[in-house]
Amino acid sequence: TVQTPLLQLQNVESAYGPIKAIRGVSLAVHAGEIATVLGSNGAGKTTILKTISGIIDPLKGSVQFKGADITANDPTSIVRRGLMHVPEGREVFPLLSVRDNLMMGAYTRSDRDAVARDLETVFGYFPILKERSHQDAGLLSGGQQQMLAISRALMAKPELILLDEPSLGLSPRLTKEIFEIVVRINRERGTTILLVEQNANMALNAADFGYVLENGRIVMEDRCKRLREKEDIKEFYLGMK
Ligand code: ATP
Repeated sequence: TVQTPLLQLQNVESAYGPIKAIRGVSLAVHAGEIATVLGSNGAGKTTILKTISGIIDPLKGSVQFKGADITANDPTSIVRRGLMHVPEGREVFPLLSVRDNLMMGAYTRSDRDAVARDLETVFGYFPILKERSHQDAGLLSGGQQQMLAISRALMAKPELILLDEPSLGLSPRLTKEIFEIVVRINRERGTTILLVEQNANMALNAADFGYVLENGRIVMEDRCKRLREKEDIKEFYLGMK
C-alpha cells in the first residue's frame, strides 16, 4: 500500500522581492519519521520552513498537509491543523516565565487535564525547565531557550514539528542532548519531525530520510543511512576528507 505523506511540497518556489530563495523544491515527509534538510548557510533551509508554516507565501507550487492544500493558509490556521514551527533563534517570550511560555504553546487547546499531563511530560524531557519554571524565560541560557522552544511546540500536541537549526550556537554536549530528546519525542510520542540543519553529522544520525539543498534546489535525497556513505556528503558535509 502506498501511504500518502503527512507533508508534501511540490515544486515550491519562494522569494524575497527579487531574490529567489528556493527554486522548485519537492519533498515528502511521512508520518512517524524524522526527515532532515541539509544545506550550507543561505541554501534556503529556513525559507522552506517559513513557506510550510505560512509565514511566507510561495510564488509557485503547493504545500499539502494531512491531505489538504495549505499553500495559501495563514500561520494560525496551520498551527490549528497540528503543525508547529520552532524558528531559528527560538523566539521565546523573554518577560514571561518559563511556565507561561509553555502554556502559550497550549493556547489552542481546551483539554485542561491533558495539558497539565503534557506539562509534566516536557518537564520530564527537560528537568531544568521545571527547576526554572517560575523564572523569566529571558534569563535562560541559549541551550535552555532551545529546550523551551521545543517544549512550547510540544504543548500544542502537534503532529508535525518543523525544527530550524536546533544546534545553532550550542556546545557539542548540549547539541547532543537536544538531539537525543528530539529522537525520544519522535519515538515515544510518534511526533513527525522535519529538521533543518547545518550540522550534517547530528542530523544524519537522528533522521530517517534526508534531502540535500544547494542554492534553493534539492540536489540529493535518500535514507540517511545511505547519505552517510556517499563520498560527496562525506567530503562536503561531514568534513571527512
Ligand atoms: P541560514 O542557515 O543562514 O539561515 P538557510 O539555508 O536557512 O541559511 P535562508 O535563510 O532560507 O537560508 O535564505 C535563503 C536565501 O534567501 C539567502 O540567499 C538569503 O540571503 C535570502 N534571504 C533570506 N531571508 C531574506 C529576507 N528577509 N530578505 C531578503 N533575502 C533573504
